[in-house]
Amino acid sequence: MTQPAPSSVEMLKRLVAFDTTSRNSNLDLIRYIQAYLADFEVESTLVPNEDGTKANLYASIGPQAPGGVVLSGHTDVVPVDGQPWTSDPWTLTEKPDGNLYGRGTCDMKGFIAAALSHVPALQRAKLEVPVHFAFSYDEEVGCLGAHSLAEKLMGNVPRPQAVIVGEPTMMSVVNAQNAGGGLIATFKGVEAHSSMTHLGVSAIHFAGDFIHWLNELQEELAQRKRTDIDTVPGHTTINVGIVSGGTAANILARECVLNWGYRTLPGDDASEVQRRAERYVAELLLPAMRARHPDADITLRRRSFVPGLKPEENEEAARLALQWTGGNRTYAVPYGTEAGIFRSHGIPTVICGPGDISQAHQPDEFVARSQMDACDAFLARMIRWAEK
Ligand SMILES: [Zn+2]
Repeated sequence: MTQPAPSSVEMLKRLVAFDTTSRNSNLDLIRYIQAYLADFEVESTLVPNEDGTKANLYASIGPQAPGGVVLSGHTDVVPVDGQPWTSDPWTLTEKPDGNLYGRGTCDMKGFIAAALSHVPALQRAKLEVPVHFAFSYDEEVGCLGAHSLAEKLMGNVPRPQAVIVGEPTMMSVVNAQNAGGGLIATFKGVEAHSSMTHLGVSAIHFAGDFIHWLNELQEELAQRKRTDIDTVPGHTTINVGIVSGGTAANILARECVLNWGYRTLPGDDASEVQRRAERYVAELLLPAMRARHPDADITLRRRSFVPGLKPEENEEAARLALQWTGGNRTYAVPYGTEAGIFRSHGIPTVICGPGDISQAHQPDEFVARSQMDACDAFLARMIRWAEK
């Protein structure tokens, strides 16, 4: 070993300094983590993306035995563009309020930093079951990396007992989350002069019809509000996040692309929105568009899917995590995380990490030092448990 053990806050400072905005490569950060682990004689494995510009990393400490714990986190962060930061987002800055500012402090390098700072303690401990690290890329753009990471990890280590996803929950144990789907709807119209609407078909006008239909569907789904789950708003939500298309006010638009998605409560049918959208397009919207011009087209492509998390499937993980937090109840959250992906491999999974989700994606994002301390205490208890 060539270095002393860094504190979790010192490690967070190192991790925040890497600009791992999802549009960038995360390889510098991943190589840093790999070298850090190697310094403590921990081997790690990279799971790269298709073009090799990004990678997931996993590593195991302790015996190659079943019944271990996976500590999971994503290495990417959301952009800072256009946000009014009052300190450098890539420099961890502690202010007199006891908060540690920087992009990714709360979402979610804080948890990764705490996990890494415990590597020396994990190496010293007489572990009876292993502790695995699973760090992904591209969570913020649709949980793209975690699929291959979970598959490789689960294929290569003896079956773990639980996965802890360290997204910010103020160290509460979360055992239910929404499912989420992201879709791209591409409308192909036929260009014509805007005075000659009979000669073409506007992709934008039909995309508008589709958005209107999504609004009506959302209203219908809101009628099915659930009261058995403590998240707000308690029903499926739909959002069109990006609309792009058209070239000029006096041309019928040739193309319009909608980047949209939905979130479904745990236990609800997570494929309903996509299925109904496909049926609406095939049976009504596309025929109407083609009636205007035979060359018109609409395609719906799924760009991401994050399965939900149902409480009853994660009791084992919740029991352990509550033991390590000292908490006495579990919670549900409306957003999606990589937890659903690990759960789909049959491993009980909960979400539990330092920081407040309301801080995530904000300018002047921070994690409270007391939250880092709470995460350190959680990991110390986890290590004692793994020693049995
Ligand atoms: Zn996150």
